[in-house]
Amino acid sequence: VERTFSIIKPDAVTRNLIGSILQRLESNGLSVVASKMIRLDREQAEGFYAEHKGRDFYEPLIEYMISAPVIVQVLQGEDAITVNRRVMGVTDPAKAEEGTIRADFALSVRENSVHGSDSVASAEREIAYFFAPEELC
Ligand code: ATP
Ligand code: MG
Repeated sequence: VERTFSIIKPDAVTRNLIGSILQRLESNGLSVVASKMIRLDREQAEGFYAEHKGRDFYEPLIEYMISAPVIVQVLQGEDAITVNRRVMGVTDPAKAEEGTIRADFALSVRENSVHGSDSVASAEREIAYFFAPEELC
């Protein structure tokens, strides 16, 4: 089994889509092993998206991520990283496959409802960024 890091982003939380998104994740074999609702502060959001610093979409991305609460969570399952990204769909909802979370719920390439780690290394870094070891079940 593998673990990945997931965020239910502000656009989804504010539109009451937490349950619908969890339903998609859980029904595809991903189990929640840690979860909390938090309001990111600017430093946390900038640190999380440090790899995108300097890109044109970086500032609006940070503003969006701190605009409302998010759910940060750790998902576990067989091939969790790959399964999660398949269930999410690609970054731009207009290009995402029908039946994916982003195709069905996202508002735009920025307000795209969910985040999922893209590699084992990212998953480990992102989990440790938000969770202490004793918070993981
Ligand atoms: P993927 O890695 O599959 O592209 P991702 O969610 O990891 O999905 P990143 O490229 O890492 O996407 O970008 C991080 C986030 O920044 C995106 O999820 C989205 O919210 C925002 N973003 C990315 N590209 C753009 C863009 N061109 N315009 C606006 N926002 C963007
Ligand atoms: Mg990414």
